[in-house]
Amino acid sequence: MARVLVIGAGLAGLACALEATTAGHHVVVLERSSRIGGRGTSQNIDGLPIGFGPHLFLKKGPLHNLARKLSGIKMKVSPIQLHRTEIIGSGIVCPTDNTRLSLERKRLLRNGGSNDPIVQGCRFLSCWNSQHSGERFHALQKRKLLVSNEGWAGMVGRLAAALDEVGVFIECGLEVTQIDGEKATLSDGRDIEVDAIVLACGPAATRKLVRSLDAEQCDSVFSKLERTTASFIEVGLDSKPLLGKQAVVDVEQRFAVLDYRAIQPRLGLEGSHLSAVAVGGLAGDIGPTLYSSANERLEALRLFLNQRAAGWDKHIVHQSQQEKITVLDSGGFQIPQNAFANHKVLLAGAWVESEHELSDAAVFSGRSAGRLISSLID
Ligand SMILES: Cc1cc2nc3c(=O)[nH]c(=O)nc-3n(C[C@H](O)[C@H](O)[C@H](O)COP(=O)(O)OP(=O)(O)OC[C@H]3O[C@@H](n4cnc5c(N)ncnc54)[C@H](O)[C@@H]3O)c2cc1C
Repeated sequence: MARVLVIGAGLAGLACALEATTAGHHVVVLERSSRIGGRGTSQNIDGLPIGFGPHLFLKKGPLHNLARKLSGIKMKVSPIQLHRTEIIGSGIVCPTDNTRLSLERKRLLRNGGSNDPIVQGCRFLSCWNSQHSGERFHALQKRKLLVSNEGWAGMVGRLAAALDEVGVFIECGLEVTQIDGEKATLSDGRDIEVDAIVLACGPAATRKLVRSLDAEQCDSVFSKLERTTASFIEVGLDSKPLLGKQAVVDVEQRFAVLDYRAIQPRLGLEGSHLSAVAVGGLAGDIGPTLYSSANERLEALRLFLNQRAAGWDKHIVHQSQQEKITVLDSGGFQIPQNAFANHKVLLAGAWVESEHELSDAAVFSGRSAGRLISSLID
């Protein structure tokens, strides 16, 4: 049995803690912020799961499979559907009143390689422009990109309840400021001794922490990593300004708005739950620079909502927004999980090598780090 420290209580860290505990290790999880779940969570406000921008999960992907396995309570899920999705300039993707056009577009999407706005829009909606296998793009066509009645907080809650049951301690509000092979220093000045560390705290914090272990390896590993940021606005409304549509996508500007409630009617209040996102466009993001600041991008997203969801701002019940959050942190290059294994440190997160994308990559790499710990200490 090893004493394992997992740094970060996002999906990768929670999944890792579960797996490592199952393998017989003694695990502690430390989280910098006041709540667990990282970017992949939501907060229930009057029954409305307000989160960090639009999130869809893959049916039977690593996250869905783990969440299902952890509780006997059946999650109610509904897929986003192409006959209720609009791509600006092309209309509804598969209109029910035009069978010929709908079939043509299904064929176009199956072939996938085209620059047609329909293909571009569906790619954007499925993975926010990450350059991966296309797993989620195919899932969108097969009605396998889902919203659940529990919101993402429900899935995080399932992981947290399972960890609580097996006695794993999660401490929030504590930042790890330094690590070496055998100890970690915390923001409150304490040192804790460990046999192995899993860094599930995102690439920026990971880079800072591993630098003191091996600066040269750190520079070589992290120099290729690219990231894309986003701005989001998430609102609960007592009206339905998308008029029954589940999603509207602007390919040119890389904007999208989803109505979770139109996708999953068991979610939240009457009315709608809009989650809008503007992806990329800042200096340092993958792709062209379109905005001089994150605030300018957020204002452009607001204008998009004014045009596509007229009157939305007159009916707000709850809202949350953020100028800048990282949505993709690999840009096609992924870092090996064991890049610092000789220091008894493993890496986990969506940016770590795996065959999956986004939160599925986070969960997959977390679980695989949990399994690899034994090989570090034997
Ligand atoms: C707008 C948006 C839309 C998205 N849409 C989708 C989607 O549709 N489908 C999907 O599957 N995924 C989506 N994602 C991606 C998904 O949210 C992430 O891939 C996933 O949540 C990453 O989990 P993680 O555990 O790797 O990282 P994080 O969630 O970032 O967790 C890292 C944790 O580490 C903590 N931490 C950092 N430094 C320290 C430190 N020094 N000490 C202690 N703790 C620390 C942080 O506070 C954080 O809680 C989206 C993301 C965004 C932003």
